[in-house]
Amino acid sequence: MQNSLQNSELNNREDVAETRISFGASSALALFDALKQHKIKDEEVWALGNRIRVCSERENHWVGDDLHNTETGELYAGNGNLWSCGSKLCPSCVAKASNRSRNELKLSLKNQKLLTGEMYQFITLTIPNPNLSLIQTRTLIDRIWTLFRKRDYFKNKVRGGSKSEEFTLTENGYHYHYHLLCVTRFLNFTEFRREWSECIEIAFREFNLPCEFKTDDGLAMVKIKRLSSSVNGLKGAIQEVCKYVTKSDSWEKLPQKDLIEIASIKRFWRMFEIFGSFRVQRNANVVLESPNVFITYLLSKLVVEILKYIQTGERNTILDTKQISDGECSSEFQDLPEKVPKRQRELSWRKYILENGLESYFEKLAEQVGKTRYARKCFLSLKYKFAMFRTLDGVSFSFEQL
Ligand SMILES: [Zn+2]
Repeated sequence: MQNSLQNSELNNREDVAETRISFGASSALALFDALKQHKIKDEEVWALGNRIRVCSERENHWVGDDLHNTETGELYAGNGNLWSCGSKLCPSCVAKASNRSRNELKLSLKNQKLLTGEMYQFITLTIPNPNLSLIQTRTLIDRIWTLFRKRDYFKNKVRGGSKSEEFTLTENGYHYHYHLLCVTRFLNFTEFRREWSECIEIAFREFNLPCEFKTDDGLAMVKIKRLSSSVNGLKGAIQEVCKYVTKSDSWEKLPQKDLIEIASIKRFWRMFEIFGSFRVQRNANVVLESPNVFITYLLSKLVVEILKYIQTGERNTILDTKQISDGECSSEFQDLPEKVPKRQRELSWRKYILENGLESYFEKLAEQVGKTRYARKCFLSLKYKFAMFRTLDGVSFSFEQL
């Protein structure tokens, strides 16, 4: 294991880590700039910017070589962050959420069985640009989706699927669209578009907006692509559905007002959703599929106890709360069973600021980050005993060094 064959893989992981560090740092800067320009004093938003900045520090990001897959023993290189801010504006935390969605979707797909006449389809739903702010656009498209889902047409044709959302910023405002990966019966293209277009018209009317489809047939643009049900056929679609913003200029391009607006959302909406037949296995425990389930379970329990001990008085950072409400989710141990014992939830950082002020919060944050980083290093070293890790500021850690 000394002469790892995975140097190129490790270099890749390093590149990913570097990209996240610089993207995260520039996200935080863009937010600070916007706050200064608009003279915003809101302590919570300033704290959020700081959390993103801390999450993007070099010492918060690790790369490791010779991590092993617990099922196959296969070695691989990995990367991650030690403490997680959990913000939607943080590239590392968004990547993590997206990874989680991908696993959730893969598990759902594994449990699907196509019935006669059914198929997998990849559908892109678009709406005419309403010329509103990002959040207003999102509220609008969400309303359209709700109308669409409740239709008999939808219920008859679509048995289950996943939905993710994406937006691009153009000169004419936001283009918001949905990607669906679903199990459907045969879909007549025109009929499908008509149903979707009707929902758009109803919602636009509710919002008092003019609605015009700039297509030849006066219906909304929709893309429907049938997928092969093979693993490979679905792979690309899974990537597409669970992708995330990776460009470092994405947040800088956003108008400052919108950036502040997004940063001020306390509970961010879920950008990935599973519905219908895809939901059945949602809470299944991925770990239970491992042949070493008992050992994995014991190990995770042990780690939980260690973390509890180290973090006495702190909120339990190993709970994967699934939903990234902005800044509430603090960690991502994907290999841990979901049902780890819950601890009394501590005061959230937002409440803490309200009660104790920003100064005191920064002190608390520094302490919490330090403890969490240390605990994560212990966890990684314990779990991957043969691996060599280092943080991006050049400090190495491993089981032997524990
Ligand atoms: Zn983060």
